[in-house]
Amino acid sequence: MKSYLSEIFSSIQGEGPYVGERHLFLRFCDCHRKCIFCDTVVERTETVLIENVAGSGTFEPIPNPLSVEQVMDIIRRMDKKKRNRRISVTGGAPLLQAHYLRELLPVLCGERHSIYLESAGDLPQQLKSIVEWLDIVAMDVKLSSVTKEKNTFPAHWQFLKICRDSNVEVFTKLILSSETNEDELIQAVQGIKKAGGEETLIVIQPMSKAAKTDAVPRPEQLLRWQEMIGHIIPNVRVIPQTHKIMEML
Ligand code: SF4
Repeated sequence: MKSYLSEIFSSIQGEGPYVGERHLFLRFCDCHRKCIFCDTVVERTETVLIENVAGSGTFEPIPNPLSVEQVMDIIRRMDKKKRNRRISVTGGAPLLQAHYLRELLPVLCGERHSIYLESAGDLPQQLKSIVEWLDIVAMDVKLSSVTKEKNTFPAHWQFLKICRDSNVEVFTKLILSSETNEDELIQAVQGIKKAGGEETLIVIQPMSKAAKTDAVPRPEQLLRWQEMIGHIIPNVRVIPQTHKIMEML
């Protein structure tokens, strides 16, 4: 089986509570959503860009799609010195490649890698098919007032419940812009509490400026929302996209 990837590189995890760890990123092509703030090229590409030396910004293009064996050869080469704490499976929407991941993840786990899945958090059946190989799930809960798409809360709650039932570590990420609707935000947080319990970590990620939007939230909004959410779920942190501050991948 083969799959389309856009990039493979080693860098610092720039988002969420694992910020600062060194991860090896597998970025898959394709996405079923169209978030207005998206900063990722999700279309299938003819080549996968493999970073030659971590942090160098120089890439070797190799033809897409890649087999599991090819991806494993690349990972073994890039992680020869075992510097990467985890493998970040990201996208795009990597769960669209769940069939492929069902082949790749057992091999990675067999070689003692820790698997960190970054997901839009709305494809519960695909998650279920691979959850046994995951160590950490970073799941988005997407607000329509921010993404400018219809929200998919029921799918998010099923997704979160599968993580809980499977005892996989999970945290939720709310990307918020200055246009966040507070009623929708509260509805989202109540849904997280119901599906995941009140010990669930919520990360507020302030939206970064993107090609199609500059509705970056203001400091007083972030503090207000953290306080509002904290009345429902106590563990709520504001963490920006730090890799962008450091101008890293
Ligand atoms: S889910 Fe992620 S990759 Fe897909 S459009 Fe939204 S931000 Fe972009």
